[in-house]
Order: sequence, then C-alpha cells, then structure tokens
Amino acid sequence: MILILQADTDKNSDDFRQLMDHLSNMKNIQTRVHDEVGTQQTLTEVYLVGDTATLQIEDMESLPCVDRVVRVSEEYRILGRHHDEDRPTHFEYNGVRFGQDTLNVFAGLCAVDTPQHVEIMMKALKERDLPCTRMGAYKPRTNPYSFQGHGKSCLPYVFELAGKYDIKVIAMEVTHDSHVQEIHNALEATGHPTGVMLQIGTRNTQNFELLKVIGREPEFPVLLKRGFGITLEESLNAAEYLASEGNRRVVFGLRGMKTNMGDPHRNFVDFSHVPVVKRLTRMPVCIDPSHSVGSRDETPNGILDVFHVTAQGVIAGANMILVDFHPAPSKALVDGPQALHMDELDYFLEDIRIAREAYEKRVALAAAHRKKQEASAA
Ligand code: PEP
Ligand code: MN
Repeated sequence: MILILQADTDKNSDDFRQLMDHLSNMKNIQTRVHDEVGTQQTLTEVYLVGDTATLQIEDMESLPCVDRVVRVSEEYRILGRHHDEDRPTHFEYNGVRFGQDTLNVFAGLCAVDTPQHVEIMMKALKERDLPCTRMGAYKPRTNPYSFQGHGKSCLPYVFELAGKYDIKVIAMEVTHDSHVQEIHNALEATGHPTGVMLQIGTRNTQNFELLKVIGREPEFPVLLKRGFGITLEESLNAAEYLASEGNRRVVFGLRGMKTNMGDPHRNFVDFSHVPVVKRLTRMPVCIDPSHSVGSRDETPNGILDVFHVTAQGVIAGANMILVDFHPAPSKALVDGPQALHMDELDYFLEDIRIAREAYEKRVALAAAHRKKQEASAA
C-alpha cells in the first residue's frame, strides 16, 4: 500500500510526526519513505510493506498529511501502474525530461576509442541541439580477448568534451559497482560538466547485487536493458529492484531477444513491446535499434533495417533511442559494422521525426474515436 502525502508535506511538522508515530505502532507493517523532488513541488510517498491486506483505504486516507492511498496488489509496486492512480510517468535529470510522453535520441559511440572521435560525435550533436549521447567506457564482451573499453582513463576527456558541447546526459554502461565510483570521481575532478545515465546491459539485467548498489545511487538515473534470454516479467522485476532500493529514475530498454531460429538480425527485435511496457509500468521506454539489428543490412528500397525498426519503435510510442554512430566505422573498436555514419545523422533524425509525428497523430485519432464512442453511449 502506498500513502501519497499532500504536496510539500513538511517532515518537521506535528502532523507528519503524528502520521509516522501511528504507522510505527501498527503490527507487522514496515514503512519506507520516498521523496520525489520535482521542479514545482516535492511529493512524499510512504510505502507500507507487510500485513496490509486488512487495512482500509478510508482509514488510511483519514490520517494526517495523507492525500491519497493506492493499494498495490501487482508485482511492480513502485514502477508499476496500479488501478486508479495518476502517479508521474516522468522524471528530470540535468535539465532533460524523461517520460512516457517525451522522445530523446542518444546517438553516440558504442565504445569510446579516441578523443577525436568523441569530439566529432559531440560536436555534431551540439549542432543539432541534441543534449544526450551514448559513450561506452566499460564494455562487457563475449570474448575475453576482445577490447574491454578504455575504462576510467577515458572519463576525463569524455566529460570535458561533453561540457564543451553542452551534452547534458551520457548513457554509459557499468558492469561493477566500482565503475559507479569511478564515474563519480571523474565528474568531481572535472567539475561536473555533464551528467551520466548509468546503463545496465542485457548481460547484467539480473545481477541483483549490482541492481541493489545502483538502486541506492542518489545521483544518476538508470537505463536498464531487458535481459535477452529471460521473460519480460523477470526484466521488469529487475527494474523494480532499483526502485525498491530508492532509485526510481529508471528507463527500460528494449534491445532484442536471443533466439536460435536463424534470425536475419543479431537479436529478435521486440519493439512491439514498447506499448506493453508503458501499459504495465510508469517507466519511459527506450529502444536500441543497433544492438537488436546488429548490421547495416537494407531493404530493396534502400532503407536500412536499423531505420525500419527505429521507426517501428517510435510509431509505437518509444521514449528514447539508443543508437550507435561512428565517425570512422572501419576503425571502431567495437560494433563498427552496425554503426550509422555521421552523414546519416540528419537523415536518421528526419526519419524519426516522421515516425513520431505519425505516433502523435495515432494518439489523437484514438482519443477522437474514444470520444465518439462515449458520446454515442451517453
Ligand atoms: C550496448 O548498448 O553497448 C550494449 C552492450 O548493449 P546490450 O547490453 O543491450 O547488449
Ligand atoms: Mn555495442
């Protein structure tokens, strides 16, 4: 059960103390308080865990400071959508809004290789007013002899260049809790010129200890990739791990599923699940067309499969696109063959714009249809 308190409830007030005293006297109920700090107001939620089945909503609603009460029976208590509620489906980080209503493009390098390539990429993004990018420093690789990423040694120049080109958020995969500390340290040392969205890759979706550590992380939001060989439910529960530890600024990433059916793509593209994740949870949903398709194959009309699946995800309401670009793909140390080229950036963005416009028209069409149905029923 979640008690949603009145906006800007003062934790030093007598009412709040009275509420917490009351809750602490209830048998077999534990409480956890969570603050959602927004630009306009702070929303405090009190999670009641344990024997809550016998509690009456009306009784709880009559307690001091309580505005609304949500009973959660579903699994994804914090990130899920529950009956009869309108909790937020967005968050802000470093001036960028991430929500089920927005669309952010994270074009960038799969793996950081040289400062020159990082700079070419970021300069191109700045010229197009794009405040986000992807930059891999820690690369989990199938083969132990493959390049594993430059690690912490590249962070200072990546962050400084990001500051130079007004990049506000860098999606960066971490595979160990020490990486989070290294990112903190490098941001500190360079004077916080940018922000980082910690990426948990598909190989770590169920690394519960990593999830718990990042869940307790107060600064960085998280992009959690769906596990490529587990159920959707298992991946959504992994996201809930983050939230249950306190970090609910989570974007859920679709990146294709492993199958052994001789697929034409590196992974079986699962972007038809964009609306499903938006229905089940309040998380913004990211698509990764690069790691799902894994090639630059194209159809007879000259459109790359990467473009096709991006458009399919966007027209279904995707909120973030994580995509590999590279200034010199033949020299890329990781995933060069699937990278888009710099001279395709404008073409890619225009293709996305078309798909997004179509999505918005579809939303308006659905609303008009519903209105018509309601009018004829009345
Ligand atoms: C990546 O985005 O660089 C990556 C390795 O993705 P995934 O974890 O989806 O394979
Ligand atoms: Mn990659």
